[in-house]
Amino acid sequence: MVQQICVLGSTGSIGVSTLDVVARHPERYRVFALTADRRWQLLATQCLTFRPDYAVINSPELADLLECELRRQGCSTQVLAGVAALEQVAAHTQVDVVMAAIVGAAGLLPSLAAVKAGKKVLLANKEALVMAGSLFTKAVEQHGATLLPIDSEHNAIFQCLPSGPADFHSGGVFHRGVRKILLTASGGPFRNTPVEQLCSVTPEQACAHPNWSMGQKISVDSATMANKGLELIEACHLFQVKPADVQVVIHPQSVIHSMVEYVDGSVLAQLGNPDMRTPIAHALAWPERIESGVASLDIIATARLDFSAPDVERFPCLVLAQKAADLAGTAPAIFNAANEVAVEAFLQRSIRFDQIALVISSTMQSLAASTLVSLEQVLDVDRQARLVAKTAVEQLNG
Ligand code: NAD
Ligand code: MG
Repeated sequence: MVQQICVLGSTGSIGVSTLDVVARHPERYRVFALTADRRWQLLATQCLTFRPDYAVINSPELADLLECELRRQGCSTQVLAGVAALEQVAAHTQVDVVMAAIVGAAGLLPSLAAVKAGKKVLLANKEALVMAGSLFTKAVEQHGATLLPIDSEHNAIFQCLPSGPADFHSGGVFHRGVRKILLTASGGPFRNTPVEQLCSVTPEQACAHPNWSMGQKISVDSATMANKGLELIEACHLFQVKPADVQVVIHPQSVIHSMVEYVDGSVLAQLGNPDMRTPIAHALAWPERIESGVASLDIIATARLDFSAPDVERFPCLVLAQKAADLAGTAPAIFNAANEVAVEAFLQRSIRFDQIALVISSTMQSLAASTLVSLEQVLDVDRQARLVAKTAVEQLNG
């Protein structure tokens, strides 16, 4: 049967890659809904190609422009605006699969709406899981949703684990002979830059990732390694492990996407070219396999695979994320909100690259973490942390 897909964040890097894979398999997938924040022209082009039932865009003004353009071109896709519409399409009874590819905290409510509607949820929006961790995984269980990781590392780990979907209730993966998880990281564009030069790097340099082409926010996160910190927290929730069970390893070639070590000494790795269409195709078709359009890995040309430990002096954001992971509760939501504010300020050239960590650490110091009890609390903590982080940005500015 043809599966109906809702792509949340279809105009982003992951969204575009998802549509590329989907277009290769018209007999398997049909696009039911597409959503975007602001890029209405690209969304219009996507609607004309995929003819979804719904298109959602954030602002009502842009929705009007989008609707006019679609009608002019004879496309009957229904246009909706606003956050509630994102939740509505994600939870729609006709949807089978939701690609959660909105960036940042804005993705939490729509991703959760898909989970609560019991969908097959392909999770790229790691910030949702970082913020709401145990609430999110509890909702997956409660509503019989299937959660599959799109983040390349977590998708790799998933592929290297004993078969079966993430199981959140039976003690995680350790009862199945796993000893630890090795989370690989490229080290980003500044892996070898002298630390004293990090104060003068520009947004353009930070966004020029050596191996991956991605959205701006995750590109900066990769350069600071806050991304690996978010991924550490993401792994703890997805696989029900503790931060100490996850070892971050720098692997500059990005050919191995992560590894799992077993108690007998076996280490399984997943390899491939750094192209997100591989994890996207894997999760879309799971437990089957489909063509993704990704070129075959030339292992001879790869020649060597290097590994090293991350440099904590160079990557203070990774250390702060590890602290948030250890504190747990609302600490990861505080870390995430402060990081989002700091990255935005850096992209706007309001603060320096090396000040991203300062904004996060001062926000974490100002707000005490507490036990995670409800979604309202998470949203409240997110709001508070943003205010504190914005004040920290202003102080650095001023
Ligand atoms: P991107 O910036 O390229 O795209 C983000 C998408 O979210 C866009 O479609 C945008 O319109 C939408 N969006 C942004 N703000 C929104 C808002 N307030 N409301 C509604 N929609 C909004 O980002 P990306 O690189 O595609 O990343 C998306 C998510 O996937 C992130 O959480 C990222 O960490 C994760 N991820 C990305 C990659 C990658 O290779 N790009 C890899 C692993 C994980
Ligand atoms: Mg990743």
